[in-house]
Amino acid sequence: MPVKAKKQAKSAKPQRARVRVKQVKRASKGRDVERDLLGRLKAGAVICAEGYVFELERRGYLQAGAFVPEVLFEHPEVVEQLHLDFVHAGSDVTEALTYYVHREKLRVIGREKDLVPMNRAALAIARKVARSTGTLFAGDLCNTNIYDPHDAQAIKEVERIFDEQVGWAVEAGVDYFVAETFAWVGEAELALKAIKRHSRVPAVVTFAMHQEAILRDGLTPAEGCRRLEQAGADVVGLNCHRGPATMMPMIRDIRQAVKCHVAALPVPYRTTTQQPSFMSLTDACCNNQRAFPVGLDPFVATRAEIFDFGREALALDVRYLGVCCGAGPHHIRALAEGIGRHPPASRYSADMSKHAFFGTDKMIRRIQTEYRDKA
Ligand SMILES: [Zn+2]
Repeated sequence: MPVKAKKQAKSAKPQRARVRVKQVKRASKGRDVERDLLGRLKAGAVICAEGYVFELERRGYLQAGAFVPEVLFEHPEVVEQLHLDFVHAGSDVTEALTYYVHREKLRVIGREKDLVPMNRAALAIARKVARSTGTLFAGDLCNTNIYDPHDAQAIKEVERIFDEQVGWAVEAGVDYFVAETFAWVGEAELALKAIKRHSRVPAVVTFAMHQEAILRDGLTPAEGCRRLEQAGADVVGLNCHRGPATMMPMIRDIRQAVKCHVAALPVPYRTTTQQPSFMSLTDACCNNQRAFPVGLDPFVATRAEIFDFGREALALDVRYLGVCCGAGPHHIRALAEGIGRHPPASRYSADMSKHAFFGTDKMIRRIQTEYRDKA
């Protein structure tokens, strides 16, 4: 919870706020309460806003396609403001935008020489926001796009990518790691091993499921998550690619398959049984062309749908929650409100009682309310 919001909550309900902090302290065994992911999860849900690259693309600061956040150099102030917007909307985490800032992606766009400063820039911006808002500071590893279980050279390169990104994040002092968007159990295990090799902070490891209901190694997501739990991951689950409707059935299976905390961070799109991933959605209005990545607007989930997703997930005891690519701050606020929170942005949540036509307030004139069905 941001410092400001915490102060407000404290002044409103001093008794309850004190009890909650005490519980978190006990769970964290003396570690810094604000920076202890597992302590926070023991006490309740943790909301992690993700999908920064899609939001930056919409705002006009990132190119769809390669999806490399060159904005870190070109407009660092935009990245900082985006982090702040998500915290304002209810995110408990500020995650460094090192997604797709690994050696392979920079090689693809011809900027490999910028690898180190770009990672450091992402970490420095996120650290500043995390420390000033009292949110958790997360490092980020992701799919490398070169992993091949039968290619020893590729595996070596993947290990190098994870080792170096973990190293820079550890230097920056991350509170925990997110390793995300993996379609291979083998690749996710390499990321987890790198985290364990170089740090002692918790690891959240999540798969991203494409159209098939199995991972590319042939395991179900529940089996893959069990493997990660056995390998020492603290939180396992799914992020990205699937909307709430096609992700939740898998999340239910994962919740039953593991004992550790479970993560669910869907994309905010209306995926279907026929088109279960956002990359597979086609738009009937545009000759059934693929809507990904810049034609997805007609499929965006409403705030009410994200509110319901949050409530449903938490009812299953799925505590690590977020929304991935396509999420705007309004989705994160809806998620927060769905689990009973009132983040600073809720100050501006809709109140239609004073609307010019639909309002119920006595100040609204009848000449307007009587016209409401024609508005
Ligand atoms: Zn995503």
